[in-house]
Amino acid sequence: MSVLIFADQVQGKIKKAAFEAVQYGAKVAQQLGTEAYAIVLGTADNAELAALGNYGAKKVLQVADARLNEVESGVYAKVIAAAADQEGANVVIFPNNFDGKAVAPRVAARLKAGLVAGAVSLPDTTNGFVVKKNVFSGKAFANVNITAEKKVISLMPNSFELEKGDATATIQPFAPALNDSDFKVKVTSVETVSGEVPLTEAEIIVSGGRGLKGPENWGLVEDLAKALGAGTACSRPVADSGWRPHHEHVGQTGLTIRPNLYIAIGISGAIQHLAGVNGSKVIVVINKDPEAPFFKAADYGIVGDAFEVVPKLTAAVNKLKQ
Ligand code: FAD
Repeated sequence: MSVLIFADQVQGKIKKAAFEAVQYGAKVAQQLGTEAYAIVLGTADNAELAALGNYGAKKVLQVADARLNEVESGVYAKVIAAAADQEGANVVIFPNNFDGKAVAPRVAARLKAGLVAGAVSLPDTTNGFVVKKNVFSGKAFANVNITAEKKVISLMPNSFELEKGDATATIQPFAPALNDSDFKVKVTSVETVSGEVPLTEAEIIVSGGRGLKGPENWGLVEDLAKALGAGTACSRPVADSGWRPHHEHVGQTGLTIRPNLYIAIGISGAIQHLAGVNGSKVIVVINKDPEAPFFKAADYGIVGDAFEVVPKLTAAVNKLKQ
């Protein structure tokens, strides 16, 4: 028996959410008295792979096939299920990010496993295998007992602090037979958004809403984000109006984020917006309306005009950095 963790990478670099999943998987393995192994698909730097050992992976299965450099959920599921069979893994863990959400259910189907998506706690194994997960867009939790022998779990990013150790993992090649016919789609080009912090990885996010009046005022958000080394996000109407790109839209119909600090500027705090951000550790709201619903969800609130408050805040942050 073992615990297998899918560690996804982008351009050879392991994602932060994958390190979190490995650390989580190592703790699950400890609970079960077994070992945690990671699997990385596509070509990645050996140092990156060995670093998975810092978070508890004893061994990393490396599937160094360049055809796997882009995530394709069908073929990824085939490879990961084959690895789980080879390693006798009864528990397979994914980060609950875009890649993990796409691949985990397919692996669960192949292994005939029970799946819990969006886990936020370690399993309670005193009476079954009970995992706590987010439900209703983060408004509530459910405790789910996985009764199937095999279990697949996807872990909500930022649910646990990373604790880096100094062990390194051994790297073992894994080469399941893959035919070209296994690859059903081909990525023809990738558009990267350069110079920005990816929202699902960002520790700090500065977000703007309709209160900013128009795209010409986004310098306010960007300047504060730059001062804090933060990513930038927005409410849905802002993206719908074309003020900002859709990949910045957070909420029920956009991205779910869980940064350490979320600064919301000129956003009312509608329930659909909160659904995507209420897992943030600290929420700061800047709004000129003292009755804005967002203040109820805020840890810190500033009642004031964003056009006056935000430049002062940015200047203060820049001064502190000097
Ligand atoms: P508004 O509601 O217009 O609020 C603007 C705020 O700015 C106000 O609180 C105002 O007091 C403040 N303000 C104005 N001027 C200033 C100033 N100078 N300084 C400081 N503050 C100022 N929304 C999302 O964000 N994400 C989603 O995923 C999402 N999904 C949805 C799904 C469904 C099915 C539906 C029905 C709605 C969804 N919405 C979503 C929309 C949501 O209901 C709200 O309409 C939206 O979040 C409001 O955006 P806003 O706060 O930017 O704008």
